[in-house]
Order: sequence, then structure tokens, then C-alpha cells
Amino acid sequence: MLRGALGAVAVARFGREAMVGAIRATLAAARPAVLAGAAVPDAEAVAAAAMAALERAEQPSLRPVFNLTGVVLHTNLGRAVLAEEAVQAATEAMRSAATLEFSLENGGRGEREDHIRALLCELTGAEDAIAVNNNAAALVLALAALGAGRETVVSRGELIEIGGAFRLPAIMASAGTRLREVGTTNRTHPRDYVEAIGADTALLMKVHTSNFLVQGFTSEVAPAEVAKIARNAGLPMIDDLGSGTLVDLARFGLKRERTVQDAVRDGADLVTFSGDKLLGGPQAGFIIGRRDLVQRCAKHPLKRAMRLDKIRLAALEATLKLYRNPDTLAARLPTLRSLTRPPAEMQEAAMRLAPVLAAWAGCDAAVAPCESQIGSGALPLETLPSFAVRLSGTDALAARLRGLPRPVIGRIQAGALWLDLRCLEDEAAFLANLNAT
Ligand SMILES: *Cc1c(COP(=O)(O)O)cnc(C)c1O
Repeated sequence: MLRGALGAVAVARFGREAMVGAIRATLAAARPAVLAGAAVPDAEAVAAAAMAALERAEQPSLRPVFNLTGVVLHTNLGRAVLAEEAVQAATEAMRSAATLEFSLENGGRGEREDHIRALLCELTGAEDAIAVNNNAAALVLALAALGAGRETVVSRGELIEIGGAFRLPAIMASAGTRLREVGTTNRTHPRDYVEAIGADTALLMKVHTSNFLVQGFTSEVAPAEVAKIARNAGLPMIDDLGSGTLVDLARFGLKRERTVQDAVRDGADLVTFSGDKLLGGPQAGFIIGRRDLVQRCAKHPLKRAMRLDKIRLAALEATLKLYRNPDTLAARLPTLRSLTRPPAEMQEAAMRLAPVLAAWAGCDAAVAPCESQIGSGALPLETLPSFAVRLSGTDALAARLRGLPRPVIGRIQAGALWLDLRCLEDEAAFLANLNAT
């Protein structure tokens, strides 16, 4: 089996030891059938099965997919797709030594934050800025640096859970600050904050209720007002924006979302937001705002445990630079490009792909209007009109699409499989992928 033509190829590719192991496993798997009377498989068949097993094991576990779910920033599919400029920068940083903490001016030590601080300050109007692993880390760090051992005042209506293990009360507990809830689920008033402030208060916090909306008899205190109450009491105020956008989305035909600049202007002492949500960069979390407070975060021991590596810093710097020219942003930043794609483009793509998919899947395929979502808790109730190929199959067909060399991920809804074409940019690659099987 090792000496046959296939065996020799497999040994050259995977090594003798791995191939011997795969042959043993193949024979062991075949043994029950042979004992029950089936024919003994010939040597080449065993070698082929062993080699196929080794090839399967060689496939990476983390693989690129076609995200046709209709959720642009899909957390389970890795959120933002990076701009080509960011990919280039990250690749170069990976391939070589880099000026991560090195000053080219004086040949001495530099700071890793230097690569993004000036850019973030320029873009947001903040005095100072640092970046850490993600926004959850940014919050833990800011709360630990400013609120450990004392109370943080938050409205009951903002004690959110953002999927999985991210629950605000748990985050606060892990940062060592005591949660002081004020107001009620639907209504919080300025006096609720004022009355909660006491000797033990460390800070006031506002949290963007990313993934839900309270409607009806409601009232919340605007961030600018919470900032004012904090300032009057001589306390800092943190505004956690969650997604956080650096541009006015209305400019691109989307619903306006409060920007990071708005939060700085409204008087928050620190603002936290994510790198891989609406910003469209790699996973990261930012803490921007008043210099003395940002520096307290920067010098906290936890910062070291949350810091970014050269690869992500390179990608972040390149992504942030794209924001210097808002006119070209929608063309260069994939997140914004997907969010602003005109429905007619998806419709035309659906018309081209529906017959191909019908033939491939052996089922009905229709061009159907649908609604895409932004995802990652940004504008949760806002959907974007789009077009899908709607296939008359469900679980089995979804599994077949997942089995393609580059898995295709759709959405099952109303007894059909929907492939929302908003995020499909490379149609030729999609077709070649279908034809590969
Ligand atoms: C998403 C989100 C977070 C967590 O951000 P990550 O970057 O995923 O860690 C925190 N706060 C709010 C309001 C969010 O929407």
C-alpha cells in the first residue's frame, strides 16, 4: 500500500509515519464489514482512502466562506472583511520585523500606541487614544482603571447582554467595580443619576443598547446630560458606543447613528467602541478621550494582557487612514461597500445566478426580494432592502453548500434556503466554487 503509485505520492506529501497511521485507520474501519463477509479492499483502494483522510485532515479548520446570510457584520463569520490596504499592511507586518515599539527618529524605544493615536485623535477630536483586544476588553480596562473598589452608576435600561458571555453586570464585576443601578427598565431621569451619587461613586456610564429597543412609555437621559451631571459632581463619565462609527452614515444613505465624534463632543470623558463592527477593521477595542484618564488605562497592569500585536496594529492604521477621505471610503472599505450596495446590483446578480444554482442543486431557484441586516448590534431594527436566490431546499441543501471547497453559508427562512447576494463580491469565484464539485 505504501509502495503503490498512490502510496509513494502520499508518503512524499504527508510523510511515511502519517501514511502508515492513515492506512491502519482505514483497515481498522473496513474490518467489521470484511468480517461480515464483504470483499477485502485492494491495496490501491486502501491507499486512496488513507490519502483522502490525510487530505481532509490537512484542510484548515478556520476557512474562508461565502457569507450569504444577509448579515453584513456576522459575529460568527468573523465580522468585518478588511480593506485591501489593511490586508497589505498586515501581511507586510507579518513578513518582517517592524517598528512596533521603536522610534525611527531617535533609534530609541517607541510606543505601540503611537501608530494609531494621532490618527484616532485627528478623526474623533479626542485628546488621547489607546487600542486593546476588543471593546469588551476596553470596557473592563476602563472600569478597572477608573472604578475598581467603588461604584459605577448605570441606568437599568442599559444593562445589556450582547450574546454569549458578554453581560454588562458580569463585565463590571470582573473589573472590580460595583454596579449601582438607577432608574427603571423603561425610564431613567436625570435626578436618578444625581441621587445615586455619593462618597463611594467612582464614575457614571452610558451604554449603547446595541441589540434592542425599548418602545412606548420610555425616557432616557441623553449622554450630554449624564456627562454634565458627572462633571458637576467632579466624576468621570464613560460612553460605551459598542459599534461606534467614525462617519455620518446618513451621508451614505443609511440611517444616522451617533458617531464617535458626537460622543466626544457631548462631553464623555472616555468613549469605548469596537474595531471590527461598523468601523470595518480588525478585532480591536478603543478607549479615547481625556488624556489623564486614557493614560490611567494605558498604565494599568491589565493593559499588558489586552494589548494588540503588530499585525492588527498595522491593519488598524491602514483602516483608519481610509477615513481621511470619506469620498472614497464606500469604495475601499468592504463593510461600507456592502452596506451601501444598490439593490439593483443584487437583483442582477440573483438573475444571473438563479438558473445556475437551480441546475446545481436540482431544485427550484427564484429571484426574491429580502432584507439584509447590519449585524453586530448596530442599528438593530434597521434592515436594508436586498435580493436573494431563494432555493426550494432546506437542511440537506444547506449542508451541501457548506460542503463546497469554499463553504457557502445562507439562511433558512420560511421553508426555503435564502442566499442574500449583498456580500457576494466575486461572482466568478462563486461559480468556479460550484463547478469544483
Ligand atoms: C459589541 C458591543 C460590545 C463588545 O464589543 P466587542 O468588540 O465585541 O468586544 C460592548 N458594548 C456594546 C454596547 C456593544 O455593542
